[in-house]
Amino acid sequence: MAPVSLQWCAHPQLARDEALSWWLHRFAWANAISNHTLERQLFGGRAFWPRDVDRFAPVLLVDQCVSLLGLSKERMEAATLRRYEGVLYPRLTIDGWLPWIMPVGVFHRTQQHHGHAYCPHCLGEGRPMRVAGRLAFEIACIRHQCLLWDACPRCDAPVTFARVQLIMAGRFPCPACGANLAVAPRRPLVRRAFAFEHRCHAALRQGFSQVGTTRVSAVEFFAGTRILLRGLYGRRYLNGLTDTSTIRCLRWASAARPTTPFEHWRLQARLHPLAALEAYLRDWPKQFLRDARRSGVYRCRFESTAANPPWLANAMAEIEPALSHV
Ligand SMILES: [Zn+2]
Ligand SMILES: [Zn+2]
Repeated sequence: MAPVSLQWCAHPQLARDEALSWWLHRFAWANAISNHTLERQLFGGRAFWPRDVDRFAPVLLVDQCVSLLGLSKERMEAATLRRYEGVLYPRLTIDGWLPWIMPVGVFHRTQQHHGHAYCPHCLGEGRPMRVAGRLAFEIACIRHQCLLWDACPRCDAPVTFARVQLIMAGRFPCPACGANLAVAPRRPLVRRAFAFEHRCHAALRQGFSQVGTTRVSAVEFFAGTRILLRGLYGRRYLNGLTDTSTIRCLRWASAARPTTPFEHWRLQARLHPLAALEAYLRDWPKQFLRDARRSGVYRCRFESTAANPPWLANAMAEIEPALSHV
């Protein structure tokens, strides 16, 4: 491993909410070296770029960054997906499915999945890529009140941000087609989905969320909403609840529903399911129970291998008698 006493010309600081991978990329560019040279200097030749850096984040890498920046280890880990450990999921794993975390599918030097959303306006203003861009409920920029993008606006390729050249301020060429990623048309927001994003960030910040008249912990909120989401849209053959809803936005095009886990869905496909969640949570469980009784859904649709959190289990207990005739 290279000694920490290496002299660097530039010392870009880690911004609040910045993703570790983006900061490493900025650090390399500021010091006029490639990402792979930085990798050799920091890590003695052990490759971290062919991995999902923000998820993989090996201890050695974090320790080196702590030395470089003089920050605490907790602060550095907050630049990785480890910051959501214990809230969105019990334990961060390097591979496999994690609730609410979008996969990027690193393959050699590129990414296969559209798993990191960004705001073109923030990018154009020099704001960093945020670690929150990896969250499946992150659909809009709070600062610019606009929909995020999960791909290059011109060629629709997943953006490998570690390959974006940082030569000229305000111009960020797509590694695939060269279009400026900072220039993209504005697209209409789905307000209810945006409200759900607000709700999720508030839960992360405060440690709880108000669901109907009940205050639930953030852990139970995220576990329950993920189960609810799967029940609403996860199984095509059990469709029915939202299709009969009296809330118009819930009657979303069911035929377009992907069969992969929600975290793999493209941003546009995630908008309406998230809006549906918000609609149900606002007066939980009244509207949900009305729709459940009208459509006669099976309770098992909302069951998981783990026990449902009480706020969800209580509502499920209410719909069980209505299913006896099914
Ligand atoms: Zn923005
Ligand atoms: Zn492109």
